[in-house]
Amino acid sequence: MIDRDFVVLEDAMADDLSVVNSARVSFKQKSQELTTSDEALINFLMRERHGTPFEHNAFRFYIKCPVFVAREWFRHRVGSFNEVSGRYTELATRAYTPPAYDIRRQTGKPSSYMFEPMEDIASECAVDIIQESYSMSFDTYHDLLRMGVAKELARMVLPMGLFTEFYWTVNARSLMNFLSLRSAPNAQREIRIYADLVEDLFAEKMPVTYSAWVNNNRVAP
Ligand SMILES: Cc1cc2nc3c(=O)[nH]c(=O)nc-3n(C[C@H](O)[C@H](O)[C@H](O)COP(=O)(O)OP(=O)(O)OC[C@H]3O[C@@H](n4cnc5c(N)ncnc54)[C@H](O)[C@@H]3O)c2cc1C
Repeated sequence: MIDRDFVVLEDAMADDLSVVNSARVSFKQKSQELTTSDEALINFLMRERHGTPFEHNAFRFYIKCPVFVAREWFRHRVGSFNEVSGRYTELATRAYTPPAYDIRRQTGKPSSYMFEPMEDIASECAVDIIQESYSMSFDTYHDLLRMGVAKELARMVLPMGLFTEFYWTVNARSLMNFLSLRSAPNAQREIRIYADLVEDLFAEKMPVTYSAWVNNNRVAP
């Protein structure tokens, strides 16, 4: 299962006032606390896609996710990443197994794929096969390490479902772009679960910006 604790907001320098003041500096003005006209300004900036005032903040997340999710996450170039190294540490042999109800069948064509749940027996059987395969990979990994093979080579046999860990530091503008793409219905379900957890933490820190983004069709400015 993907646990809520797999997305931790370790630190943030982020509030709605930073958006307002970054915009108002054009007129050499500064607000001390958020007023209703400031809220309207945030909505205006979002609607008109004046994006840079949304960049003067930072969120530092610590993420634990399967490698196949991290691989999609790392495509988001506007942000900083540092990940646990499989060259320097023996990797924890822990991997993601979807719950049986989430084992799905893929139909349709590229760009209009549909996903349907599989029958109970087939999905339970798939879960068993996934776990068996993980177990074989982990045994092989440990055998190679015991033989003295370097960690950087032994890791080659590990599965895409293996959990990895990384820091992700990102500003609100790029975060909204990530959420637009990764919580959309066409994003893979597993990264959507993570995007939803990130979204809750973003909404808590910058509630007015968050509402403006939602009210403007979840399009990043
Ligand atoms: C549903 C889905 C399916 C996908 N399928 C595939 C796939 O099959 N194959 C694949 O390779 N990728 C795929 N991707 C990844 C996708 O192409 C992007 O790499 C990823 O979503 C990151 O988006 P981004 O470039 O907007 O984000 P970031 O890299 O964080 O960039 C943020 C924004 O900065 C600007 N920017 C960043 N770099 C540049 C640049 N070099 N030039 C100009 N502007 C820049 C752009 O405005 C960009 O939107 C998929 C993504 C999704 C959501």
